[in-house]
Amino acid sequence: MQLLALHLNSFIDYARLRGMPYETIASGMSALPTDGTDPSTTIDEEDFYVVIERIFAYLNDDLFGIRVGNHLNLNTLGAIYRISLKSVTIQEALYVCQAYLKKTLPLIQVVNSMDDDSATIRLYIENDRYQINRIILETILMVVAREIKIISGEETEVGIDIAYSTAVFEKPEDAPSAWKGVIVLPSAPGDSRGAFLSPIENNQWIVSVGGNHGDAPPGDMEGFLAFVKTLRTTTIYDAIKGAKPVGQIVRYLLPCSARRHFEAIQRLPRGLLAIGDAICRFNPVFGQGMSVAAQEAVILNRLLGARAGDMGRDMDPLDGLASAFFAEIQCVLETPWGIATSDFIYPKTRGERPANFEQRLQFNKALVRLGAQDASIHKLMTEVNHLLKPQSALREPEVAERVAKLMATPA
Ligand SMILES: Cc1cc2nc3c(=O)[nH]c(=O)nc-3n(C[C@H](O)[C@H](O)[C@H](O)COP(=O)(O)OP(=O)(O)OC[C@H]3O[C@@H](n4cnc5c(N)ncnc54)[C@H](O)[C@@H]3O)c2cc1C
Repeated sequence: MQLLALHLNSFIDYARLRGMPYETIASGMSALPTDGTDPSTTIDEEDFYVVIERIFAYLNDDLFGIRVGNHLNLNTLGAIYRISLKSVTIQEALYVCQAYLKKTLPLIQVVNSMDDDSATIRLYIENDRYQINRIILETILMVVAREIKIISGEETEVGIDIAYSTAVFEKPEDAPSAWKGVIVLPSAPGDSRGAFLSPIENNQWIVSVGGNHGDAPPGDMEGFLAFVKTLRTTTIYDAIKGAKPVGQIVRYLLPCSARRHFEAIQRLPRGLLAIGDAICRFNPVFGQGMSVAAQEAVILNRLLGARAGDMGRDMDPLDGLASAFFAEIQCVLETPWGIATSDFIYPKTRGERPANFEQRLQFNKALVRLGAQDASIHKLMTEVNHLLKPQSALREPEVAERVAKLMATPA
């Protein structure tokens, strides 16, 4: 059986990335393709298995198949885009995928089936080389999942380029003992620099400092401290300037908060469900991702529990699970996503500003002023920010009226 060399090329590309020499990869092949990236070159089925087996033994990585599917070189991506261009629905995309695999990787059998509210894609290989077959099937499944993502095309982004550096310090002997934590917020929109200090185990402090749109905190201690010193108050700088650092500074960069609208997808393959950051990823400074993932898990648990009673009956308990789940989690996402979009306060933030953004901004500015005067309002704002209450709690008449009065008076 002849297979398109491009498919093997994805595995080779990934193995080379992980440091495996090309000579070692290709040494077991009977006929080396002159150009593995050429879209018409084919290879023998046996060579396909030999090379994947060789790479698997070298990398010794059980997630190898998934990683290759995730890695995707430009050629694979090109094939995916070509499939997407030919199809306007997921059903069509799966059909074109099936035809493409039949022609280029006939080793794999693909069976698609559809009914009113579910789509199933079944991939299998009819030989007993189980271990390598699992790797091949996992890779193809990951590629199909990407195809679905591309064709669903529904993603909202708030491009913020948040850079984050974190360091741990031994707590100095003269450290203020009453601190539960220190938060220095940026004075947006002019300045995006902010920081958190929290006590942790072993009598230590963890300090995270961040900035947006290229204003990245440095990774060396001198630069880190200099950055902390420029925050709008020197409280954290004064606390850590003489403290002994523990370990290295860890840096992180996130280009955007992103929300994928799985709820808009009409048909997902049966048994496929996204959760947590895969659905919605937030600017980490708001500290919400884990709470949202946990709330989604609670909803999923409830939905699965309700369906458990259907097991054994003449019906599929997973029927409609994905659409029910994606519909229910929308209210969980509403508050944290609303907070994530507040990053539009920075003029450089990329994406589509909510229609009422300017109005929201003025409301929030007045709310912060009110919070500075009234501890109960500050508490309410904190509860909303930590997802204990919905954002609508800030629009309750007794709060909204006081905010409106402040909006009418200059700061
Ligand atoms: C710097 C930073 C600070 C944060 N601070 C907070 C905070 O204070 N509070 C808060 O609530 N949230 C915070 N978050 C967000 C929080 O970490 C995430 O929202 C949360 O971890 C999402 O959980 P998840 O299970 O969806 O994804 P993850 O925790 O990312 O888990 C996904 C897992 O899948 C694995 N994986 C990925 N690809 C593959 C593959 N192909 N095959 C197999 N495994 C794979 C990954 O290795 C990972 O272990 C922060 C995030 C960052 C980056």
